[in-house]
Amino acid sequence: MEEITLKAMAKINLGLDVIRRREDGYHEVRMIMQTVNLYDELTFRKQQGGRVRLTTNLRSLPTDGHNLIVKTVELLRKEYGIKEGLSVHLKKKIPVAAGMAGGSTDAAAAFAGMNELFDLGMTIEDMQKKAVAIGADVPYCIQGGTALSEGIGEILTPLPSAPRCSVIIAKPPIHVSTRFVYENLHLDKLEKHPDIDGILDSIREGNIRGVAERLENVLETVTEKEYPVIGQIKQFLMQRGALGALMSGSGPTVFALYDRNDLAAQACEELRRAGLAKQVYLTSFSDKTCIRK
Ligand code: ATP
Repeated sequence: MEEITLKAMAKINLGLDVIRRREDGYHEVRMIMQTVNLYDELTFRKQQGGRVRLTTNLRSLPTDGHNLIVKTVELLRKEYGIKEGLSVHLKKKIPVAAGMAGGSTDAAAAFAGMNELFDLGMTIEDMQKKAVAIGADVPYCIQGGTALSEGIGEILTPLPSAPRCSVIIAKPPIHVSTRFVYENLHLDKLEKHPDIDGILDSIREGNIRGVAERLENVLETVTEKEYPVIGQIKQFLMQRGALGALMSGSGPTVFALYDRNDLAAQACEELRRAGLAKQVYLTSFSDKTCIRK
């Protein structure tokens, strides 16, 4: 095989709780992760010469070792003694620095792409073990679907697929620093924690309304205050038939769940016209995180 193109899907959090801050500065979390059908495309191609070259349609992204794709490719080349060169093209569609694990899912696709292209014979578990070195969310992105994520994100429990629904993804044109959000999260002042167990039960029962009613993310306590547009988008979608709406990860992307696709399509259109968010997508849950194009 000389070339392979993969779709790398984004994630949202149906629930996000922070349990405590560890002494090493990491936060212990309890999150319900869900893959959505919004994806980047990555093309891996073998090249003459021993160089690794990344190109992308989004000029603001790093193309050197700061990019998680290059980091992953270099890690595997070193570990498996791969001398052959490689070009990677990234077609970016997932909102960047938006709480959707865009970089992590690209890294997961890089594991899968290298595995296929160079016949490395890694199992999912092999890839997940190596992936911790790239980022806490990468092991989840290798597995995808619906999962409970604990520890710093690396302890994963696969869950049954979440009930089908339509999903609106809306990224407002603001930049939220993940660091700022965690630094301003005061766990001792939280009035309550998300009902993660209730969401888990609703998923197991196939009850989308039960999931939607319990959507909660502790990081919103910081971001909604600082960036009112997040609350405005949620309210806008709730007034247009959403079963529930929430910020994903450390934001600022907001998602909303619908059990009627016609209502979701109309709300999507209205949200675009209202100008609250520049990137607005109508999508669905996915069981797979990385598929061949
Ligand atoms: P998370 O949900 O895991 O917090 P995120 O959606 O907030 O992730 P990313 O889109 O992964 O954030 O990007 C965060 C930063 O990582 C970007 O500002 C970018 O410079 C860097 N980065 C490195 N590799 C990539 C990549 N392949 N795609 C996007 N960003 C990348």
